[in-house]
Amino acid sequence: MTVDFRSDTMTRPTPEMLDAMMKARVGDDVFGEDPTINELESLTAGMFGMEAALYCPSGTMTNQIAIKCHTQPADEVICDESSHVYQYEGGGIAFNSGASVKLLHGDRGRITAQQVKEAINPDDPHRASSRLVCLENTSNRGGGSCYDFSEIKKIKQVCIDDNLSFHLDGARLWNALVEKKETPKQYGEIFDSISVCLSKSLGCPVGSLLLGKKDFIKKARRVRKVFGGGMRQAGFLAAAGIYALQNNIERLKEDHANARRIATAIANKTYVKQVLPVETNIIIFELNDTIPAPAWVAAFKEKNILGYAIAPNRVRLVVHLDISNEMVIKTIQEIENFK
Ligand SMILES: *Cc1c(COP(=O)(O)O)cnc(C)c1O
Repeated sequence: MTVDFRSDTMTRPTPEMLDAMMKARVGDDVFGEDPTINELESLTAGMFGMEAALYCPSGTMTNQIAIKCHTQPADEVICDESSHVYQYEGGGIAFNSGASVKLLHGDRGRITAQQVKEAINPDDPHRASSRLVCLENTSNRGGGSCYDFSEIKKIKQVCIDDNLSFHLDGARLWNALVEKKETPKQYGEIFDSISVCLSKSLGCPVGSLLLGKKDFIKKARRVRKVFGGGMRQAGFLAAAGIYALQNNIERLKEDHANARRIATAIANKTYVKQVLPVETNIIIFELNDTIPAPAWVAAFKEKNILGYAIAPNRVRLVVHLDISNEMVIKTIQEIENFK
């Protein structure tokens, strides 16, 4: 039994999900004729109370399309320094949109309205035009931290006052919704665009959606084609998404509870300097000088427990759909037995 905590992208479709995929009705989505994709897009838009949605192969693509649609070259994007859009999308903001980035030092990936306010450039030809604010909820590098919704509302007010667009990278928004007992509609009311992933905690093999107003999504559909993301009979994949939205959201609570159980076991070890607060499904812990993170990861790999060294002294474990109770028990036992 291999226990794979490297990422919540490591899930395999369940027999029920595969069954839904095999039964999908399909057509050519570039012609707008795939009934299953159309259904997934309207289902998701409806959940968020937003006008329209666009199905894409990845969260990188939905984020990059959103940034492209919100900005012109030489505009500036404001985000946290650890943001996925900046750190893990291959320099896409520069490559795809020709935009510059103003990085803020947030609290575990979360920035404040005050920071955003101070980061907006004056209307001066020397300066890039501040154009877009991107938030990430939950924050990946922040260890699955969740925003306080009242802060999001304050940031929205800054965006309104200064005429900035507001995008949410909600790759793991589902985890935040379940943990904080929030609703998709709350988010749909605030953001100009939202990107959500189906391939992370919800267990789909691929897929992300970009949400926004009708005109915005019309433009986004054009950019998706330019980016090479126009797929044909991808309804087979979208069917997995519909299945996941209907079956795999509420159960995220179990992942969060399992993450807390594992974090408690880790926090007891003398070689652990600190465990970041576990708010959702991600555990990040810092080791002291007695053991480097790659050595911890290698030692647990021998026990068929896979983690990820995200820094020389930091390990990340991500709990997901394919982590069973039995695996959690095995992991806790191995943690207790190790040193
Ligand atoms: C995974 C992730 C994405 C999208 O990644 P893809 O692998 O391109 O689907 C975007 N934002 C965050 C915060 C992520 O963790």
